[in-house]
Parts: sequence; structure tokens; C-alpha cells
Amino acid sequence: MDIRQLFRLNQAQTTHFPLMLQMDRAEKCSIYDNSGKSYLDLISGISVSHLGHGNENVKNAIIDQVNKHMHLMVYGEYIQAPQLKLSTKLASLLPPTLNCSYLVNSGAEATDGALKLAKRITGRSKIIANKNAYHGSTHAALSLNSDEYYKNAFRPLLPDVHFIHFNNLEDLDQIDSNTACVVTEVIQGEAGYIAAQHEFLVELRKRCTETGTLLIFDEIQSGMGKTGKLFAFEHYGVVPDILLLGKALGAGMPIGAFISSTENMHQLADAPILGHITTFGGHPVIAAAALAGIEELERLDILNQVAEKEQLFRKRLIHPAIQAISGKGLMLGLQLDSFENTLKVLQMAMQKGVLSDWFLFASNKIRIAPPLIITEDEIEFACKTLLECLNEVYGN
Ligand code: PMP
Repeated sequence: MDIRQLFRLNQAQTTHFPLMLQMDRAEKCSIYDNSGKSYLDLISGISVSHLGHGNENVKNAIIDQVNKHMHLMVYGEYIQAPQLKLSTKLASLLPPTLNCSYLVNSGAEATDGALKLAKRITGRSKIIANKNAYHGSTHAALSLNSDEYYKNAFRPLLPDVHFIHFNNLEDLDQIDSNTACVVTEVIQGEAGYIAAQHEFLVELRKRCTETGTLLIFDEIQSGMGKTGKLFAFEHYGVVPDILLLGKALGAGMPIGAFISSTENMHQLADAPILGHITTFGGHPVIAAAALAGIEELERLDILNQVAEKEQLFRKRLIHPAIQAISGKGLMLGLQLDSFENTLKVLQMAMQKGVLSDWFLFASNKIRIAPPLIITEDEIEFACKTLLECLNEVYGN
């Protein structure tokens, strides 16, 4: 059997049309397949590789920690320096009410942990999420997915989940004194990179405070500098009660975190104790990588360049087929007319050495989410290639 057949046979599949590129290695913004062909990575493994691939300081932090120790104990018992340093670093970068991190294994687990925390703190069960939001694929996180197609086969899911429209002020009336929490992205990811309007977040915060509802920001995709600030909520001056991080937080390693105040988080240690348990959450090697990743963001001073890079994409990506460019920073969605044409452009771009993707709930949009270290020359190449593909597909 060849490699492609083995992949189909022995690895669980998530679609009937996997990309099936046989990747070999990756460096900075390029991924190389096993024929040596290079691809410019415009998606960063879905918003993970914000420092590019193979950052030396992250790799060294991983190696140093492997040499000290790997897993020692389930989360929360031993004092392990990498976990403590990462949690302390996050606290130093966040507002004082977000000073206590629970480190977990994935974004979905962070979502799940935050929902449990909100229920535990408020004693309420009603949960509100946005239409077209994506918070993960486990049972609890999937319950927050408004799309019946994706969840119907897996019912029953969490009860008492209600959906509002993102950026719709009138819908905020649905938040009441029975609501445990509202979960929202700040820049909606899978909806096709749609930024929250300032007034929406301000009014949402107000309504949550009035009703004693906890406000949860999912920055699993928008966090770690993608919008030019370390956390997208910093653009708005609105602080959540619980913050979710993941993806790029691990600098290429698997991680999630839900973050709140010490007082809130300590409720998971009480009635019941062990309110959330994870074996591998806060894994020392991953925590060391995550800390090194944050230090690299600071050392390289990349966040200051994000707005300029966004502008270059916006300046170059002008084409009759591009109906709009949504998003903020290096989270941009190019809106075309149909899924069919989006797919054609993506396939053609892949052949020409540029990797991009569409969005779960916006299949007529092309995703521009490269590593933040992308250079001006690479942006020029990406845009030139995409414009060529648009010309070929739309016949201009
Ligand atoms: N929240 C958001 C906003 C996401 O984009 C994702 C993943 N795409 C998740 C949660 C789930 O993260 P994970 O795949 O690590 O479970």
C-alpha cells in the first residue's frame, strides 16, 4: 500500500477531500513537501504558527525542558517551574482580574472548562453564544455551534444554550438573570474574520454586569498578537470575566487556557474539589514552549508591524472579484462570490505554492492568516499569486 492509501486506512478522516499534501519540513513562513516544493503558509496551521515555523528559541526551550523533565503529575499538584512561569507571565500581560490561568490541552477544553466555571460561579445554566461562532468540537463546545448541520448527529448536547447575532445590540436583551455566561469571539474566526463592533462589546459588557452574567471572550484564534495587540480585546477597552486562549499560545505545541481572577478560579477547588481535572494540561514541555513564544513576540517586536502588513495586503488585494476584505490585522477574509470559485482559487494557489483555506461558516472567503513574521516580499508574492489565480478563475 502506498502512503496515501495508508493515510486513508489507518488515520481517521475528517473529510472525503483531504488536501493530502505530503509535508516534510517547515521553516519560517514556508512549508516544504517531500518533493522539495515550497509553499508560502498563509494560514499558519489555522492560526497557530504566529512566529513562523521552527523558531530557534522556542525549539531550544523545548529541548532544555525535555532534558529537565517531561510529565510528572496531573495538573495542579506539584509546583512545576514552566507552568508557574507561564501563568505568571500571562498575569503580567493581562488586566488584574485575569491573573489566574488554568492550563489545558486544547481550545475546546478551555471552552469546556470556562462553561463549567461559569455554571459553578453563578449557579445558573443558561448559556448564550453567537450565531456562526466556533468554540471547538467536543460535546460542550459543539453545543455552542449554531449550525444544525454540524451538531444534529451528536445530540443530545448541552441544554439551555441560546444564540444571538454577533454585533446585534437588540439581541442583548436575551441576557437575563438566569444567564450563566455569554461566550463570544472578539474577531469571529470561522464566520470569516468579522471584527466585533466597539459598541457591541461595550453594551455586551454592560448587560452582563447588570445581570450578573459572566462574559467569556474566546481569543483562541485572535489572541497572541494576530490583530496587532497581544489580545484583540485590548483594542476595545472591554475586559471579560473569563478569557480563553489556545492555538498560538503554544507556539506550535498543543495548549489551551481559561483565565479569570484567582477568586473565581478557586471555585474549581471547592464544592466539588477537582472541579476540572486534566492529566496533561500545563505539560512542562508545552508550557516552556509557550513562555518562549511570548518572549519571542516581545523580543522580535512583531506586533508593531501587524497593522502595516495588513495595509500592504489590503493595498495589493484589489480585484473585481474581491467583494470585500473583512477582519483585522493578519486575520483577513477575502470575500468572493461563491464556494465553487473560492475552491478553484485555493487549488490554483496551492499549485503555485501558496497555501490558504476557506472558513467553516464562510465558504466564499479566502483566509489570510500568515505567520506574523511574514516579510514584505512574501506578502507581495502572496498577493501577486492570488491575483493571478483570480484572473484565471474569473477570466479577467
Ligand atoms: N475557539 C476558536 C475561536 C477557534 O478558532 C478554535 C479552533 N479553530 C477553537 C475554539 C477550538 O480549538 P481546538 O481546535 O484547539 O479545540
